[in-house]
Amino acid sequence: MTAHAPATTLGPGPAVLAIDVGGTQVKAALLDEDGRLQGVTRHSTPRSGVDPGGAVIDAAVELLDAARRAGAPIAALGMTVPGIVDETRGVGVRSTNLGWQEYPFGELLAERSGLPSVVVHDVRAAAEAEARLGAARGIDDVAVVTIGTGIAAALRIGGRAYTGRGYAGELGHIVVDPSGPPCACGRVGCVEAIGSAAALVRRYRERGDHPVNDAADVLRRRQLHDPVAVAVWDSALAALGAGLAVLTSIMAPQAIVVGGGLSEAGAVLFDPLRAELDARCAGLWVPRLLRAELGQDAGTWGAAILARATLTPAPTKRNTDA
Ligand SMILES: [Zn+2]
Repeated sequence: MTAHAPATTLGPGPAVLAIDVGGTQVKAALLDEDGRLQGVTRHSTPRSGVDPGGAVIDAAVELLDAARRAGAPIAALGMTVPGIVDETRGVGVRSTNLGWQEYPFGELLAERSGLPSVVVHDVRAAAEAEARLGAARGIDDVAVVTIGTGIAAALRIGGRAYTGRGYAGELGHIVVDPSGPPCACGRVGCVEAIGSAAALVRRYRERGDHPVNDAADVLRRRQLHDPVAVAVWDSALAALGAGLAVLTSIMAPQAIVVGGGLSEAGAVLFDPLRAELDARCAGLWVPRLLRAELGQDAGTWGAAILARATLTPAPTKRNTDA
């Protein structure tokens, strides 16, 4: 684990609006001219069966109007969206959860706001923020993994984001148990179907005797030696270890930074996961396993960093995978 505290400012520069669209929540914040994130607000993610992408754009424009009414001199807009995102084109290729396909977020945001706008995948935004301000600072080859409702990785190689046109880092859909439970993606036995926070809850409910609301409840049952909770947790660790070992054998990152809801479990997750990784990578490269430092604001920070980058003529370190 790193001992340093996360940085809390990006330094002087233009003020930008950052919007982090998640499956349940939209977070918005102003990055001020001193480079500090101000007044993070949270709203329910708008949903629409007819025009799911348009509902998100409308919400973003409302947030921008509110910030402008408050007098903020906003120079650019950065927005994260979940799912598969082609950042070069600013297109939300697909979100199974929110329901859009091939939606031109970047173009519409720029048109509606009149500002330079950037659209980025939520986990890659978090990785950008961890690389600039958090646990991945100074690490050239690093994977930033979020474990929450889903599981995904953002890859940085040689200090640049590697996105694979939006398709790289689908760690959650590596099949680790061909006879395992079905996954939302249509395969069976994916890392996400066994090792995500949502999978812990779902798998406990299938066999357990006690009501559980979230992964923390399953962990509490495990501390009480509930055998179902112990089995569900052990299989989650094994699935996560197997997934991270595949990632490591292909990419050999110097470090893997883990964030997302499940990372809040702290040592209960990190100590055994580190042991899993050590065992599975024995004789090969073993990366450091670090806890993400920016918590729930990582995506918002990343959106702000990338919004500012649209205004900077200097070459950025982002890789467009052209
Ligand atoms: Zn899957």
